[in-house]
This record gives sequence, C-alpha cells and structure tokens, in this order.
Amino acid sequence: MPELPEVETTVRGLARHLEGQRIERVALNRPDMRFPFPEGFVQALTGATVTGLGRRAKYGLIHTDRDSTMVFHLGMSGRWRIDPSETAKHDHLVLETPGHRFALHDPRRFGFVDLVPTDALDRWPAFAAMGPEPLGPGLTAGHLAAALAGRRQAIKLMLLDQRIVAGLGNIYVCEALFRARIDPRKPAGQVSRPAIERLVAAIREVLEQAIGDGGSSLRDYARPDGELGYFATRFAVYDREGQPCARGDGGSVTRIVQGGRSTWYCPKCQK
Ligand SMILES: [Zn+2]
Repeated sequence: MPELPEVETTVRGLARHLEGQRIERVALNRPDMRFPFPEGFVQALTGATVTGLGRRAKYGLIHTDRDSTMVFHLGMSGRWRIDPSETAKHDHLVLETPGHRFALHDPRRFGFVDLVPTDALDRWPAFAAMGPEPLGPGLTAGHLAAALAGRRQAIKLMLLDQRIVAGLGNIYVCEALFRARIDPRKPAGQVSRPAIERLVAAIREVLEQAIGDGGSSLRDYARPDGELGYFATRFAVYDREGQPCARGDGGSVTRIVQGGRSTWYCPKCQK
C-alpha cells in the first residue's frame, strides 16, 4: 500500500517528464475507479499544459494552466507507469504528451482521481480538515503538544489521525515512535515535551530516509514497465516481530493490535 514516501517518489518521477508538457490525449478505459471519473474529465484535461506537480498527504497533484488540478490517490495498489510497452488490463487512465504516455494502473481499484479548481484545493473535502504536512513547516513540537494535550487515546492512534498530522500511515508511525523511543500505547497527553520534540524530528527522519530510498529507485526507472513509486526500504520495527531490537538493547520487536491494526515496537527502549 503506497505511503507518503511512495506518493512523493511518484510525484517526483512524474514531474520529470510531465512538467511543462501539453496533454494531447486523455483516455479512460472504464467509467470509474473507486469513484466515477468526474464529469467532463477528458475534455477538461485534453490540450491543457501541466504547470507543476505537488503532493498533499498521500494525494498527488497535477496542476494545469486551466486553473484546475487533477488530484490522484493510489489507493491500495495504484501506480503510474511511464511509457508502458503495451496497455495492460488495469491501466484505467492514460495521459499522452508529445514525448510520453502515462498510465494509471490499479488492479484493486481503491485509487481514484478528481478534478478540482486549483484555488479551491484547500476546501476540497479530504483536504479541508487535514493537519499540517509532516515535512512542512506546520509540524512543530508546539503544534503537536497542543493537539495531544489532555488526550487519553494512545499516541500511536493519535498520529494516524489525519487532522493532527497529514499523510502518516501505519509503517511510518511505528518507525517514528521507535526512533523517538516512545511507547505506542502511551496516552497521548502524557507524552513529555522532550519526547514530542524527539518525535517531530523522528517523523521527518523516517520519511526523508524513505524518500531518499525512493529517489535511488527513480534512478533506475529505465525498467521496462517504467513503474513509479515502489521501492525497498529498511524498517527497524515494522513487520519484524520477534527480531532483536535494532538498538541492541536485548529487547525484541513485539507486535500488538491497536485500533484493529498491528503495531510493532520494542518494549525495552520505548517508554
Ligand atoms: Zn529496544
């Protein structure tokens, strides 16, 4: 499942070939993905020039000179393929520029796209109540301390709440809590200020490291299918139940379930 670093890598990979380009053709190979394609989608994008790309949380943004932005979400299995050698069964949307073809491929179809007036992006429903970007200036220890103050819910679950920090998923929350040495079960309001400061730094570090790994994967994008956004990265605790703690403290990675999802952590060093 694509997390923020995969989306960021995808956006950077697309930007290299799509920025400044005119979209000459738009093809939809079915009426919907998770949701129907917006009405007038093909018309609105055909002939438009891509003025820039961006990302908000786990959404990719393709801005055009028609003051509209195509928003895409990769769902569970979505990916963009650049210059695929042939149209595959699950290429639901294809954009063509003079130089390239871009196919949005999504076998499970939990992904979707929308078309939003660029100046109304902040009011788009998924964005309206969203917290600050974890890599942006808005995520500070002050913001987090205020958001967590008095809350009894476990810190792990609070970090998955998109209103507090945007775009953090299960993997990077587990990794950041490990790096910051915070027990994922700790009531959010009881996390100390120094621990919150470590946490803010840890969130940035784990995401930046993964984006760096994704950047390396872009360098060998000459793969035949030109798929963007999926790469191998190293995790300290995620999916490592029973492995020795990476700190070498003699603890072993333990899996618990919180809010219906797995959490991995080291009981020895995360307090
Ligand atoms: Zn440990």
